[in-house]
Amino acid sequence: MSDYDVLIVGGGPAGLSAALNLGRSLARVLVIDADRPRNAATLNSHGFLTRDGVPPFELRRIAREELAAYPNVELRTRVRVAELSASDAGFTAGVGRRAAEETVTARSVLLATGLHETLPDVPNLRGFYGMTMFSCAACDAWELRGRSLALIGESADLAERARLIAHWTPRLTVFTHGSDAVTTAEEAELAAAGVGVVRGAIVELIGDRGLLEAVRVESGEVHPVDGGFVRPEWVADLSFLSGVAPDRDAAGHVATDRSGRTSVPGLYAAGDVASPGPQQLIVAAGAGARVAAVITHDTIGVATVSH
Ligand SMILES: Cc1cc2nc3c(=O)[nH]c(=O)nc-3n(C[C@H](O)[C@H](O)[C@H](O)COP(=O)(O)OP(=O)(O)OC[C@H]3O[C@@H](n4cnc5c(N)ncnc54)[C@H](O)[C@@H]3O)c2cc1C
Repeated sequence: MSDYDVLIVGGGPAGLSAALNLGRSLARVLVIDADRPRNAATLNSHGFLTRDGVPPFELRRIAREELAAYPNVELRTRVRVAELSASDAGFTAGVGRRAAEETVTARSVLLATGLHETLPDVPNLRGFYGMTMFSCAACDAWELRGRSLALIGESADLAERARLIAHWTPRLTVFTHGSDAVTTAEEAELAAAGVGVVRGAIVELIGDRGLLEAVRVESGEVHPVDGGFVRPEWVADLSFLSGVAPDRDAAGHVATDRSGRTSVPGLYAAGDVASPGPQQLIVAAGAGARVAAVITHDTIGVATVSH
């Protein structure tokens, strides 16, 4: 017999929401959470109904407090799943601070490990990230609406992103940081929409205590701004899947059906690690609740219902 019915890897909104719903379904649940929220850089999270503006760690604190009412749900934080393998009997996970120090077994596993992001290599960008520079328009553009904004990025979807952010402000400048992310045709289209493109490498972000005031490029030009957005690269770190290999999509997310089932029987995924977006807390929490119902139904052996 396995130690747990369900092992949840990752205790963000997807994992914690799944834990709550699985706990209420009588499952013996273990949540292992390295406790590095993707949105830790920001002071306030927006768009989560009943919790608009809540600090990221406060959202987790409330969720953990609610889980404490369920003796069949165990939560271990500041440790990670360092190895995961599958057999006919279920799954075996190696758990520890860095490497595997202890082994646990489970009949099913939910991957809810989120994404890691890499920001463009712009000097002191981290100092402004989460304060006046953000990556998610739906999450943070309201606070910056109407202001003079920068969009910094190096990826091929930068012009498309500029059109999105221009919805919130008529004063937007795109900085490609020396890359060819924006084509000449796209530059002309953006110019027609009132969006400027600056192609030089950024040498300095000017500002104080997280408040961005200007962007200096290699030519020496200084462009005053009040904040803006950056286009990071997002990566799903699944290096701990040592003995199991679910299908991935083109972007590297774990591929799932609509219910969160992966290509490996008994292995599920929810939240940012499985979703092409939108990457938002409430979407991740919703996906966690949905996959919890699916796991319960699969375990009992009844069809997943739509009500
Ligand atoms: C700067 C910033 C600001 C944001 N602001 C907002 C906002 O205002 N509103 C909004 O809705 N969304 C916001 N988001 C997006 C939001 O943070 C994500 O969509 C959401 O956190 C995804 O939830 P998740 O549960 O899938 O993953 P996460 O919240 O990333 O949680 C994953 C957890 O899994 C853990 N983990 C990873 N690997 C392992 C492992 N091997 N073993 C154990 N644990 C592991 C991580 O440490 C982490 O605790 C923001 C994102 C960023 C980067």
